[in-house]
Amino acid sequence: MATSDLNKERAPEDAPARSLHFIEQIIENDNKTGRFEQRVHTRFPPEPNGYLHIGHAKSIILNSGMAKEFGGLFNLRFDDTNPAKEDVEYVESIKEDVKWLGADWGDRLFFASDYFEKMYEYAIQLIKKGKAYVCDLTADQIRETRGTTTEPGKESPWRNRSVEENLDLFERMKKGEFPDGSKTLRAKIDMASPNFNMRDPVMYRILHATHHRQGNKWNIYPMYDWAHGLEDSIEGITHSICTLEFEQHRPLYDWFLDELGAYHPQQIEFARLNLTYTVMSKRKLLELVKKNYVDGWDDPRMPTICGLRRRGYTPESLRLFCQTIGVAKFNSVIDTVVLENSAREDLNKRALRRMGVLNPIKLVIDNYPEDQTEMLVAINNPENEADGTREVPFSKTLYIERDDFMEDAPKKYYRLTPGREVRLRYAYFVTCKNCVKDADGNVVEVHCEYDPESRGGQSPDGRRVQGTIHWVNAATALDAEVRLYDRLFSVENPDDPNNTGDYKDYLNPESLKVIEGAKLEPSLSDARLEDRFQFERIGYFTLDKNSTPEKLVFNRTVSLRDSWSKIAKK
Ligand code: ATP
Ligand code: MG
Repeated sequence: MATSDLNKERAPEDAPARSLHFIEQIIENDNKTGRFEQRVHTRFPPEPNGYLHIGHAKSIILNSGMAKEFGGLFNLRFDDTNPAKEDVEYVESIKEDVKWLGADWGDRLFFASDYFEKMYEYAIQLIKKGKAYVCDLTADQIRETRGTTTEPGKESPWRNRSVEENLDLFERMKKGEFPDGSKTLRAKIDMASPNFNMRDPVMYRILHATHHRQGNKWNIYPMYDWAHGLEDSIEGITHSICTLEFEQHRPLYDWFLDELGAYHPQQIEFARLNLTYTVMSKRKLLELVKKNYVDGWDDPRMPTICGLRRRGYTPESLRLFCQTIGVAKFNSVIDTVVLENSAREDLNKRALRRMGVLNPIKLVIDNYPEDQTEMLVAINNPENEADGTREVPFSKTLYIERDDFMEDAPKKYYRLTPGREVRLRYAYFVTCKNCVKDADGNVVEVHCEYDPESRGGQSPDGRRVQGTIHWVNAATALDAEVRLYDRLFSVENPDDPNNTGDYKDYLNPESLKVIEGAKLEPSLSDARLEDRFQFERIGYFTLDKNSTPEKLVFNRTVSLRDSWSKIAKK
């Protein structure tokens, strides 16, 4: 990457130069000292046991961002060491999400399972050094003999088996001679270590399972702590970025690599992302999907990447979000509003403005010619002149929002009420005359008169109107279903240990509102999934994947910043 690009990445010309975050500082320093010969090589190592969420997005954006910023490389590696929970469905969705976020792994798509043979050889190496042994304790017994924070653990009675016996047993474990759970291979480190991870951790367990890539080849599977550091080492990763929980595991990873005399990446821990009003645990997200609390992994209320995408978030909005929250050493919880504001900031720049009425009522312009339709010019995006203009049809009968009319309005009501003049966006000044009611007294039609001299919404004589409202021409309006979303949970932290109930008890019953019979301007008939729109005064919208030409469906990404959204919220 050229230096000028680098600078651009870090500090756009109109923004003040930002200071480097602590990971950038570490990398910059390593480049200075030549520790990795100026190489920067990062990776994203998901376990294919669920769909990715916004926390993973943070890790992807950080890892691929560091590679890009420092002219390095980025790997996508599936940490597929646990066949019991993994599935190809997840592999495919993860690839799609990482690609969508713009992280480029080039030809470096790897699977930890491809290293099983190499890991096995490494294990033999440790056994031969007397640093690993086959243990016959059950998982429960291992747990029971681990000791406590104040007491050392108890050494396994199998700890001092001979190298020959260990080699023989380990090979037979591999061949499948022993039942699941009957033996493990453990590192021989220190049962009295103050760090629990160093108390003879298990490296391999017996599991007669079918692996999604290896089939039935393996009867033993490596534990995460054994496998993970090796994977980074094998791939020549320089900066192995992970979340804070792994700080206590670092000495173990270092111990393994030191004993093997293998290449050492630098592990760097950062704070995981937590967001208010949602849950991020894969187990819980899976439960919400499996028990149909939501409409699949990509339900637009889910914090998953595919859910956010379906909701209308762009990769740029997620990158902006990550830039805004930064990279920290301490765990904290980010307010969901920060995420929503990133969408607003991004969509404000890119969304095409359109007019749509969610809760329609007819507006009849009494003095407008009966059979006339004229085309008026509307600006597509005031933030981007290149998006140009479009024509919207206008005639005697329109739809406006029901809330934009009030029969007995207070003084400060700047919309339609008898005697008051407002601007119809891009069209004309109209003065409200009266309304028509049905037998029950509900308003069914609003009547007004227009000023033909005010075409385009321009004042003909310098007189001003206070309000501008949107509208849709009745004869050409598209019918659509519009889905408005709110937070999935009604409390900030559904996982709060002080909560009395299960996290599912805090699901927000109002998190989805489906509006049938919205009226949209005709240009939206050729909306595509990748398009982003602002329905003026209502919010940012995108087409839903289930939309068809016969039945248009739009999702609201977020409401507009200036909390107009009175209509929408009702
Ligand atoms: P588990 O390991 O329990 O299945 P996980 O969310 O850690 O769940 P992984 O597939 O192991 O899932 O995660 C892949 C990468 O994403 C890891 O490097 C992890 O550090 C990172 N990651 C996961 N959750 C977050 C989060 N909330 N914030 C930042 N990074 C995260
Ligand atoms: Mg993990």
